Formats: sequence, C-alpha cells, structure tokens
Amino acid sequence: MNKYNIETNCVQAGYNPKSGEPRVMPISQSTTYYYEKGEDVAKLFDLEPGYMYTRLGNPTFDVVQNKIAMLEGGVGALLTSSGQAATTLAILNICHSGDHIVAINALYGGTMNLLGFTFKRMGINTTFVNTDITEEDLRKQIKENTKVIFIETLTNPGLEIPDIEMFVKVAHDNGIIVICDNTFATPILCRPFDYGVDIIVHSTSKYMDGHAVSLGGCIVDSGNANWNTGKYPDLVNPDPSYHGVSYTKEFGKAAFIVKANVQLMRDLGSTPSPMNVFLLNLGLESLHVRIERHCENAYKVAKFLDNHDKVTWVNYPALEGNKYYNMFKKYMPKGTSGVISFGVKGGKNAAMKVMDSLELASIVVHVADARTSILHPASTTHRQLTDEQLREAGILPELLRFSVGIENVEDIISDLEQALEKI
Ligand SMILES: *Cc1c(COP(=O)(O)O)cnc(C)c1O
Repeated sequence: MNKYNIETNCVQAGYNPKSGEPRVMPISQSTTYYYEKGEDVAKLFDLEPGYMYTRLGNPTFDVVQNKIAMLEGGVGALLTSSGQAATTLAILNICHSGDHIVAINALYGGTMNLLGFTFKRMGINTTFVNTDITEEDLRKQIKENTKVIFIETLTNPGLEIPDIEMFVKVAHDNGIIVICDNTFATPILCRPFDYGVDIIVHSTSKYMDGHAVSLGGCIVDSGNANWNTGKYPDLVNPDPSYHGVSYTKEFGKAAFIVKANVQLMRDLGSTPSPMNVFLLNLGLESLHVRIERHCENAYKVAKFLDNHDKVTWVNYPALEGNKYYNMFKKYMPKGTSGVISFGVKGGKNAAMKVMDSLELASIVVHVADARTSILHPASTTHRQLTDEQLREAGILPELLRFSVGIENVEDIISDLEQALEKI
C-alpha cells in the first residue's frame, strides 16, 4: 500500500479483504477469540502472533493502526481510548520516577496538567520552555535525567508552530528522543517523522474522527529512534514482566510500540472500543478531503476577520504577518487547519455577545470537527480566572476560538458578519 499517495491510503490502507470477504472493514466487537486446541493458545503465550484478548489486540484495531502508521510513515501504531491515554502511555513507556521532560509551554491544556501536576506527583518533572526558544537556551534545559522533549506541531489553542528540526537536533545530540503531538496538523498537513521526530501521539477525537462522534488516541512509532544511548534501559534490558524479553533485540525497529502494547496497555488498559475504532476509520476515509476544505475555509474566514473593523487581532499562522508564518511555510505549507482565534473590540462582554449571536456556528467545548463551532474561553473553560489571571495564562478576555467547519464558507462569513454587527 505504501506505493500509493497519502490520499489513497486514507481511503484504503490497512484493510485488504480476500475474495468473498466483506469489502468494508468489519467491527470485531468481541473481547475474546476462539481456539480449537489448547496448543493453539499455548503458542500465543510463547509470543507467536495472534489474538488472545481485546485489551492486547483486536483485528479492527490492527487495520486502523496500520492505516495511521502508513499515513504518518511509521513502523507501527497503537490505538488508545483517548488522546490523553496516548500521551500518558507514550511517556510512561520511557519515563520513570526521577526522570525529566522538556516541553513547550503552549501544549494542549490536558497535556499541561498531565505533565505539570499528575506526572510531577509521580516523580517525573517537566521544564516548560517557550515554543520559540533559541537552540542555545534549549540546550541549557537538558539535564542528565532528561528523557524526552515534548512538542506539538500546531498547538491547541495558541496555534504556535515550533521549529521541529531544531528541537530534534538538540534532543538527538543529547541521546534523547522527541515526542510530538500531531493532532491539529494531522499527517495531511505535516508529517513530523520527515523532520526527525521519533514518536507521534494523536487525539483522534479531533480531525481524524472529524465528526465529533468517538473519543480516541493513537501512538505512532517512527522506528528510527536510537534506544541504545544508555538512556532507555527498559527497552534494551530483559523485561521480567514479559518473558525476560529485550524489546530492541526481539522487535528491532518496533521496540517502542510493541512495549507500549504488551506491557503498558496490558497493565494500564486504556483500550478503545471496536465500535469507536470503526467510526474513526470512517473519519479517516475522508480526512484528506475534509482537511483541505477546513484550511481553504479557515483562510477565507481569517482574511475576512482581519479586514473587519470590530476585530482587533486575528491569530491564524497561514495569514501573512503571523508570528509563525515562516514555520507554517516550512512545516505545513498546505495550511494550518480550521482553527482560528481572534479578539473583538469591547473585551469580554463583546466577545460573549458575538458568541451568543452566532446562528450557524454552535457553542461547544470541542474543536476540529466538520461543524463550525465557537468558544469564549474567558466566560467558559477559564471563567474562574480574573482578567489579570487570564492575561497571565495567555488567554485574552476578548479571545474567541473559532473552529471553521466544512460548510459553505459564505454562510460561515455571513453568520460572523451579523454577529459582529451586534456589538
Ligand atoms: C484534544 C487534544 C488532546 C486530548 O485528547 P482527548 O482525545 O480529548 O483525550 C491532546 N492533544 C491535543 C492537541 C488535543 O487537541
């Protein structure tokens, strides 16, 4: 399937039915698997490939894992019950109590909490750095016990774009790896492995699912990480909990993703449901077409807002003059997704008025699906903060987060026009 382009892989990769089998990937809605003889089951426990229990593997998962691995250009993938679970397993696969992470400070809020509080309680500390930190300053943040640099290709909600190659260079010079959250860009807009990233995580709940119907996550392994730098003994040394296996010796390039599955998924159990994975696959079949339309519509909406006298500023990296315009050109020249943030004259109350006046765009605590939606963080997700605290958190009181859908763009713009007239 790799001989095809990414659009073809979105539609077809991962599932190759034999004559007479269902044309569409079936849902294996089964926790268990049937075996004729005890000997057949015994083989599974001798690590021969096969299914024993859905927490450890499922034919529906395999199809979609293979598809996403192909879209990103990796050697393997592991689906999880949510994006948070993907990030958690990816990090715990290489970090212990006593280890250290360097991460950009504009990460998705859930990731910020996970690193800043929950992992901290578990003894894994994180140093947060600015997305546009210089190479020299980044080098100073790496410690003896640093195991990972964590970045996001296009940050949610700040829409910042790190210089991926710079982060990769500093990590690899120090014998450590880069994990990158590619949720907003998706492999349609950016393929982080092409720039040396080692591991990718996704919240598939956003554009990949695309219809806001199924929560999910995914870890993708590039197969290119060097685990033999002395920093990752758990991947190299025998695992007493899994037949004394050395993942790097036994599974080679797929060491990381196999360990995440057979050790962490086994023990922590953040398995998706086969039904949700089926829905995710439907989303993936149109991902390339939807993303193209999201970008096209969002660019027009950003232009419209930029020229509107009641709009004070617009943040959309693909818009000329944006702080990350050069990074957009370098890493995702096809576009920067459907998400825009902007500010309106009149502060918090005016922003709330615009949000309430929209008719086509709905108010939701979600972004990145087919329907245009809006959220005013200052009066919803961050309503407990004062104006001063909001500014400190980088969330301006007048900020509106607008997720441009795939409807007719003139309809989206008219809706904004009438709502802006109300202030
Ligand atoms: C939503 C999101 C997550 C978390 O994913 P869930 O599926 O909601 O658990 C992680 N990273 C990014 C960039 C996100 O947008």
